[in-house]
Amino acid sequence: MLAYTYVEKGRFELREKPRPTLRGSRDAIVRVTLSSICTSDLHIKHGFVPRAVPGITVGHEMVGVVEETGPAVPNVRPGDRVAVNVETYCGDCFFCRHGWVNNCTDPDGGWALGCRIDGGQAEYVRVPHADTGLTRIPDSVTDRQALFVGDLLATGYWAADIGEIHPGDTVLILGAGPTGLCTLACVQLKQPGRIIVCEKDPDRLAFVRAHYPDVLAVGPEGLPEFVRAHSDHGGADAVLEVAGTEDTFRLAWECARPNAVVTVVAMYDRPQTLPLPDMYGKNLIFKTGGVDGCHCKETLDLIAAGKIDTTPLITHTFPLREIDKAYDLFEHRRDKVIKVAIENTP
Ligand SMILES: [Zn+2]
Ligand SMILES: [Zn+2]
Repeated sequence: MLAYTYVEKGRFELREKPRPTLRGSRDAIVRVTLSSICTSDLHIKHGFVPRAVPGITVGHEMVGVVEETGPAVPNVRPGDRVAVNVETYCGDCFFCRHGWVNNCTDPDGGWALGCRIDGGQAEYVRVPHADTGLTRIPDSVTDRQALFVGDLLATGYWAADIGEIHPGDTVLILGAGPTGLCTLACVQLKQPGRIIVCEKDPDRLAFVRAHYPDVLAVGPEGLPEFVRAHSDHGGADAVLEVAGTEDTFRLAWECARPNAVVTVVAMYDRPQTLPLPDMYGKNLIFKTGGVDGCHCKETLDLIAAGKIDTTPLITHTFPLREIDKAYDLFEHRRDKVIKVAIENTP
């Protein structure tokens, strides 16, 4: 089968590999129908993810059809269409029992697919802990609608959830890239009074204005003043930092009202500084990433009910054979790309 492979720092290649087989009783083999490229894939490509091993198949955002299951996978059967969770987790350890599946202590726990073990930018993928990691897609939900359930939407759902957002609140989201947009879709479900999205890329701002007309979409210039003018208590009640730059890290706490919750969803490429003397008296609560992706069923139900629709994020589609072109477009952000879908035609 074809599998997009991390060859060495700076190089991915579409290679011929043997089809994966079941190794454990909780494994499943999934025939991938649609996958996507994530910024984390680019981090692997450029050698920023030391856990990623050369030779592995990349890709951790995918949907497909169950081909085969081990005896301890009661939740899905061959032929089922499924969303694959980015995180594989045991479901039994201390962290899993608390819903903190990102910190699962199992050797395959956390983000393993497409990083430490073969992932899904391929024709087939072996999913360990398939009993916790695969979720059946309702018949009324298409593959394209479900594509982001296991990774981006899981992140957005988790962020909106831990952000402690109450009806009527002013919520500030920093960053309107793919993760920011999925976060926005999930924040809307909490019925805040106002949502302010800050983004410096004019194309992304235009996308927010076109698809989310009720949202206040602004650039970073003068943001603290803007947020104060559009909130009831001198700043945002909840801030979600999804952009991951030094500037947005600073804006996150500057724009928060006293006692607000600041949720840091973003991954930074370097340490950030908390200027505690300047912040003294703000009494902020910081929550940091990464995602506990264990609510795929809930997000799929919300999609089926018409409450979340992330299909407009898929701006481009390529067949697996042309995945090099898809990476080139995504990495260099050409042609107003937001997300790319990689299609496997049988
Ligand atoms: Zn990802
Ligand atoms: Zn666990």
